[in-house]
Amino acid sequence: MLRENTLTQSIQTEALLSDKKDYNMEDLTFVLFGATGDLAKRKLFPALYNLFLEGKMPESFSVIGLGRREWSHEFFREKIAESLELYSRRDVQEELLPKFLNHFQYCALDVTNPAAYEHLHAMIRQGEETKATSGNRLFYLSVAPNFIELIAENLNRAGLNQTTGWRRLIIEKPFGTDLQTARRLNKKLSEAFDEVEIYRIDHYLGKPMVQNLASLVFANPAVGSLLDLKKISNVQITASEIVGVETRADYYDHAGAIRDMVQNHLLQLVMMTALHLPETITADEISMKKIEVIQSLRPIKQDEAYRDVIRAQYDAGEINGEPVIRYLDEPGVEENSKNDTYFAARLHIDNDAWRDIPFYIRTGKRLDKKSTRIVFEFKNPVRESLPAEETVPNLLILEINPHEGITLRLNVKDESSEFFQPAYINFTKPSDNLADAYELLLFDAMLGNATFFAHWNEVELSWQWIQPLLEAFENNQVPLHTYPAGSTGPKAADDLLKQDGFAWW
Ligand code: NAP
Repeated sequence: MLRENTLTQSIQTEALLSDKKDYNMEDLTFVLFGATGDLAKRKLFPALYNLFLEGKMPESFSVIGLGRREWSHEFFREKIAESLELYSRRDVQEELLPKFLNHFQYCALDVTNPAAYEHLHAMIRQGEETKATSGNRLFYLSVAPNFIELIAENLNRAGLNQTTGWRRLIIEKPFGTDLQTARRLNKKLSEAFDEVEIYRIDHYLGKPMVQNLASLVFANPAVGSLLDLKKISNVQITASEIVGVETRADYYDHAGAIRDMVQNHLLQLVMMTALHLPETITADEISMKKIEVIQSLRPIKQDEAYRDVIRAQYDAGEINGEPVIRYLDEPGVEENSKNDTYFAARLHIDNDAWRDIPFYIRTGKRLDKKSTRIVFEFKNPVRESLPAEETVPNLLILEINPHEGITLRLNVKDESSEFFQPAYINFTKPSDNLADAYELLLFDAMLGNATFFAHWNEVELSWQWIQPLLEAFENNQVPLHTYPAGSTGPKAADDLLKQDGFAWW
């Protein structure tokens, strides 16, 4: 049976490779800072491997992995093979693995040592000469954020960004810690790379459901007409996690949910949701429309933040029958920390389309379930003509993570029942072999398609919108609530929606 399975997989992979489309990909050197780290292991190597299997890597490419550890090329390749065994969504094909690993080399480099970049430069040039490639270079900075500025400066100083081909820089979040630091970082980066060459990863933009919002509306006029804005009462965006702060207290206790999730992921989801309606738009228009949305987001003033924003921290509780400690008792968290592990807010987009439709956003750690979803709640006029509580509002729910799916909630009545019952039309995409966000994003970056990366203007405007809230938190102008671990969040967040006659879905 095992042999049969292996044989079937092998045939499928061969079919995948022989079915290669011509993606017209240009050769490149992929320079990976942080190649010995967690992100590389869990996401980047598996993403490159699955792209390789799909024929979505160039014919000629080399990856130079960097870290301080003194690894040999061979040991590096063994580590990559291990990571594929653990994290690749497709099984590792023994006969293809050496072909893939042959593209990888390792170079020990301390990013704080300017002289080390000369050696790296020589290694890149040698590879380009041997393979007679055209000098395209993709630098991926999968390192702690405090190194980003320094690496860009050193790449510039040592001339690694001077090449006969194209050059691109991919950076991870977080992009700054507030408006001022984000501007400073951007200024530094722009000394070495042009804006069109900088790819800021927000992996929420790599989720297939988020990328496909446009085509969902475009290819399904029925969905488009369902989402007639005159019929929508509110939109809710949730990104909830079960996990707590884990081992990241060093970073998280200063960032909080507001910087870790809201400034980037949630505001990106607000932009992506609002830009597609009422009219369909093309991929080229996405960035421009996103900027229009964030520019229209009504500012929340620092001294009025308490009206529209809820912040909270998790208390002890229970998850899956197991007791869970409170945030303040987590290792590495400061005594009396006022850090937010939960954030909810009421937003208004002041443009003609969305003016009267509030957006509610929320995110938190140690909640009852892991889920990222967008819910459109429809107005419920029938409620006025029927006995109280007899019908529920219609909902259109777009599930983004961990499953992808679309659900429509309706009211139905059968002959045996006097009352309406909620009924669900539900499509759930099988999640076992879904392309990971990093696959889609790396592929786009290699092709030079920045549609699903965060443009500087979006990042700057997001920080601008968030800044008064950061200051309100800092000055304790927004009360810090608590919520039991394993719950749906603080009561104050429920009350926020109750004020408007709504409830969270
Ligand atoms: P990590 O596991 O701590 O890895 C850090 C990497 O940086 C290691 O490869 C380390 O290599 C290298 N490094 C540290 N100091 C260095 C120095 N002086 N010179 C050269 N290399 C140095 O971190 P990570 O989790 O992979 O995260 C990387 C980035 O991705 C961070 O910006 C993080 O915020 C972001 N991110 C990570 C995840 C995730 O799931 N892990 C998700 C989203 C975003 P040596 O130890 O060999 O020096």
